[in-house]
Amino acid sequence: MFDTEPDLEAFRAEARAWLAANFPPSLSSRPEVAATAGGDVEADAERWRIAMGEKGWGTPTWPAPYGAGLEPAQAQVLAQELSRLGAQNPIGGMGTMMFGPTLLEYGNEEQKARHLPPIARGELRWCQGFSEPGAGSDLAGLQTRAEDRGDHFLVNGQKIWTSGAHHADWCFCLVRTDTTKKHEGISFVLIDMRTPGVDPRPIRLINGASHFCEVFFTDVVVPKENLVGPLNGGWTIAKRLLQHERKGLAAAAQAQRAEARASVPEMAKEYVGVDEQGRLADPDLRTRISQFDIDLRCFQLTNARVAAQARRGQEVNATTSILKQVGSFLRRDGAELIAELAGWRGIAWEGDEFTEAELADGHNLFYSKAGGIAGGSQEVQYNIIAKRILGLPDPTASA
Ligand SMILES: Cc1cc2nc3c(=O)[nH]c(=O)nc-3n(C[C@H](O)[C@H](O)[C@H](O)COP(=O)(O)OP(=O)(O)OC[C@H]3O[C@@H](n4cnc5c(N)ncnc54)[C@H](O)[C@@H]3O)c2cc1C
Repeated sequence: MFDTEPDLEAFRAEARAWLAANFPPSLSSRPEVAATAGGDVEADAERWRIAMGEKGWGTPTWPAPYGAGLEPAQAQVLAQELSRLGAQNPIGGMGTMMFGPTLLEYGNEEQKARHLPPIARGELRWCQGFSEPGAGSDLAGLQTRAEDRGDHFLVNGQKIWTSGAHHADWCFCLVRTDTTKKHEGISFVLIDMRTPGVDPRPIRLINGASHFCEVFFTDVVVPKENLVGPLNGGWTIAKRLLQHERKGLAAAAQAQRAEARASVPEMAKEYVGVDEQGRLADPDLRTRISQFDIDLRCFQLTNARVAAQARRGQEVNATTSILKQVGSFLRRDGAELIAELAGWRGIAWEGDEFTEAELADGHNLFYSKAGGIAGGSQEVQYNIIAKRILGLPDPTASA
């Protein structure tokens, strides 16, 4: 898309040379490259994280000194060059996807200087303390209290579905600082997860894994300097953060689809067989797979266009709800299509009779449903699209 622009070609050459010198082949997602690379994968991963952090390419579009300050089109070239090598950006998570961009917009200079560099170097992990047992879709109904105690807030309450809280160093958290108002009584604070009184308890899922936690806060002292934006002004910041989250989830849905199976048509031929012309034997499946591939390609191109249009890649708005929605549908539809192709092998969960790819597909089939809930449910996205994009009458007091 950008191949004809000479400055981008110069950047491509620079990126290609730097990646050739710094990306350890042992980390390549291309099996033929990784298999012959040798090396210590763990040490290579650490070396790769440090190199990308120092270069600023882990957060390519963040402005200097926090990132490389690349134009979106350059970041796109970088992503293409990474993908060419089967390389992943080693610096990710909620810090880069949603909290960092939000802090760049709403944080003061001290907060940016303190929190952004460790995120950009991939040194610290953040979690999101938004949802509560009584506040999910109606997020503004949250009850976790932060009482003003002079130089600090005293936080008491409970969060739920907090992804990765048991591994996180910090939590960006919504708290109630005024009980007489709903949206205007919420503040956005940063909580060090090692503070006494912070108690993350992993929620055990049916497969034994623990992706997320309940987090209990009991008399947790949070210094006033950890308030982002104005007191009782957290709702505006939360809405922006959710837009970054939805944009990131859409991009992740696209990447996960691409990773799950290199080629659905090839897979279909393997499981369903071919006709005398070498085409997939089932014409109905052929049509549906083609339609899915077209939809996926359109989604990838739309994501690329949105990224290219955004100045410095930071601009987001309510249209991210559309991207998140389409991404979650595609992820679900792709997983269901793969399961259908594979028949009984498509619901693989564990066991030696399944291949690695089948086991990954089986797990992905179940997890693909979560995309319609995380970051705000599909129904809530429809409400936001109706209200903020189509200008229809307000269907909900939250969103
Ligand atoms: C994988 C995953 C990771 C998550 N990680 C985090 C995290 O890190 N941090 C965090 O804070 N939260 C996290 N969440 C929580 C997530 O944000 C909430 O689950 C989500 O917002 C829905 O809230 P709820 O579960 O309370 O469902 P509810 O709000 O109780 O909704 C139940 C059902 O009612 C529907 N509904 C509710 N209100 C409306 C309405 N007004 N109009 C139409 N339909 C409506 C919903 O669409 C849904 O189908 C995660 C969730 C998942 C699945």
